[in-house]
Amino acid sequence: MAFHATILTLYPDMFPGPLGHSLAGRGLEKDLWSLEARQIRDHATDKHRSVDDTPAGGGAGMVLRADVLSKAIDACSEDADERPRLLMSPRGRPFTQKRAYELARGPGAIIVCGRFEGIDQRVIDSRQLEEVSVGDYILSGGEMAALTMLDAIVRLIPGVMGNMESANTESFENGLLEHPHYTRPTVFEDMAIPDVLTSGNHKKIAEWRLEQSERLTCQRRPDLWDAYLDQES
Ligand code: SAH
Repeated sequence: MAFHATILTLYPDMFPGPLGHSLAGRGLEKDLWSLEARQIRDHATDKHRSVDDTPAGGGAGMVLRADVLSKAIDACSEDADERPRLLMSPRGRPFTQKRAYELARGPGAIIVCGRFEGIDQRVIDSRQLEEVSVGDYILSGGEMAALTMLDAIVRLIPGVMGNMESANTESFENGLLEHPHYTRPTVFEDMAIPDVLTSGNHKKIAEWRLEQSERLTCQRRPDLWDAYLDQES
């Protein structure tokens, strides 16, 4: 079964958005993956169709109601649905390339997009939502986080990206940041392409690229560098 994403959102029109273009978009057309965005508000029961209310205990902002959101979740997950239920949340486990691979190999995901201050904790607990963060900053809603996460997943689905070798040498694939790239023109504003890359010596080129990767990772990401050294030793 191909990867199927169900998104629960107050803004279904935001989907597939950028994922309707380029490689991901072609993958959608070819049914290599599929996406369905559902309106949480369809599950509101009062006459104003309200989905949020003031936080218990006081404070700023509004919170997505447990009754409305849980109904929306239950309506899209039948008993046999084995897809993980994810909640986009800055409190979540940071999303990684490793998690992208795991999800790309699976049946898909149900993805809840928060808005306002967030969602009622009882939905997270009772529906066993896995909180996923795309970085240490606050977005105004979970939609762009979901699009970001899905983009990372979808390009790993077999057939979506033409050149899988490209995926295998990318940043994070071997625990390192990627080496620099160059292309024509050979000289740009007095800057030449490093000689080794035009030497035709593939062994030397591979060595140079690894050196560059290691140097960049060491300089920019001490956290990744320490993990890399641990794994090498
Ligand atoms: N009050 C919350 C932030 C709410 S932001 C807090 O301090 O933790 C509104 C919604 O945007 C969240 O419910 C979440 O779905 C989404 N969101 C914001 N930042 C995010 C991030 N870094 N990663 C994933 N989702 C995020």
